[in-house]
Amino acid sequence: MIDTTALTIQETCSLIASKQIKTVELTHSFLDRAKKLNSKLNAFITICEEIALKQAEKIDDLISDNQSLGPLAGIPVGIKDLYLTKGIKTTAGSKVLENYIPVYDSTSIARLKEANVVIIGKTNLDAWGHGSSGENSDFGPTKNPYDLTRVPGGSSSGSAAAVVSDMCLAAFGTDTGSSVRLPAAFCNLVGLKPTYGRVSRYGVIAMASSLDSIGHFTKTVYDNALVLNVTAGYDPRDSTTSQDKVSDYTKDIQKGVNGLKIGLPREYFKDLDKDIKKITMDAVKKLENAGASIQEVSLPHTQYAVATYYIIQPSEVSSNLARYDGIRFGFARDKFGQEAKRRIILGTFTLSSGYYDAYYLKAMKVRRLIKEDFNNVFKKVDILICPTSPSLPFKLGEKVNNPLQMYLSDIFVVSQNLAGVPSLSVPCGFIRNLPVGMQIVGPHFSEKLLYQAGYTYEQETKWYERKPKMGN
Ligand code: GLN
Repeated sequence: MIDTTALTIQETCSLIASKQIKTVELTHSFLDRAKKLNSKLNAFITICEEIALKQAEKIDDLISDNQSLGPLAGIPVGIKDLYLTKGIKTTAGSKVLENYIPVYDSTSIARLKEANVVIIGKTNLDAWGHGSSGENSDFGPTKNPYDLTRVPGGSSSGSAAAVVSDMCLAAFGTDTGSSVRLPAAFCNLVGLKPTYGRVSRYGVIAMASSLDSIGHFTKTVYDNALVLNVTAGYDPRDSTTSQDKVSDYTKDIQKGVNGLKIGLPREYFKDLDKDIKKITMDAVKKLENAGASIQEVSLPHTQYAVATYYIIQPSEVSSNLARYDGIRFGFARDKFGQEAKRRIILGTFTLSSGYYDAYYLKAMKVRRLIKEDFNNVFKKVDILICPTSPSLPFKLGEKVNNPLQMYLSDIFVVSQNLAGVPSLSVPCGFIRNLPVGMQIVGPHFSEKLLYQAGYTYEQETKWYERKPKMGN
């Protein structure tokens, strides 16, 4: 049996291509681990054993026939159960879609299949992507592998738990306002929220269409870039995708940060927990020592971001969820959980005649100001660094009955969705044995730069080597 716990995508690709391991063997190891740990973590809603083994056999056949392989050949991946997967149940974490089997693949899934990945299973999430902790899933909460009494972050909770506990080597999430970055921070992973329009949303169940970003989790920065190479790019089926050329995100990743101008947005550090502040500033110091220059900057409308997000997002949710009427897909509306109902009601209110101007329209105006804050700041600096979360991974049950408290977990991560800019959360250490993440934020389409900065920092620190104690 292969020890899967120390592998990265980069290493595994070369082991497979050089025929040192067989894909079927590797897939068995990951499936066994996923089945064993899932009872503890509840990371997967569906484990696709048969499909995974079939995909693996096909890759081994390609290899023995000396056929060309896709760039992620044999890499085991987990897919948030919000992505349509042809022939595989797709629930969105909700009982409404408990029996729904899509008839086509989302664009990302089609691209991953072309790249020859192996799909291990569909991962757990807050129903419809609504949440920051994983506790809103109708299929039970996911646990944080570093401490089973704590949340892994949400809404892509299962994807993060699956990668960090070595059930797969990459997993897919969606980030509408936190959902890749927060779980990445809580689970010691690298998580990318790409620029809005960089990765196709086609075939991913829509939460809030003007904010939804299709991102992914990996253990290392290099692995993350390898995956973006496959998913990024124009899609005629998503008219919001950019036609701009996609770069090879791994190229120049080792270029370093010499001469790079890094901004620290004052608003994100004010009143910040002092341990989180210290750990973030230690990380900044490392980048400064590597040749970057540091300056304080301001994003003056930051204080309005959560309120703005929690008007625009439910407005779009109320419209997107209207199609689940029990006639076309899945079960009827009475299966919606509390949080989905709350958002439908809120969104219907903010869009309703007489209130539209006071809420939705006003929020859209503030959104523009938030976007301009980023435009202005990126005239002065190349990237920003700030914490991903204001707190450590919290206890299961701690915030679930207080929606406002839960929404405030997103205080550092929603502005980037409102502005459409990319952000990479990278591990930056541990406080009381719990992982902490920091965000590297850049202008639109600056993913390459984010990877360069993240990679430089990671080489110094290698936090990904500190694994949760899940046993073998
Ligand atoms: N936590 C945020 C919310 O509940 C964002 C969720 C997401 O990014 N899917 O709306």
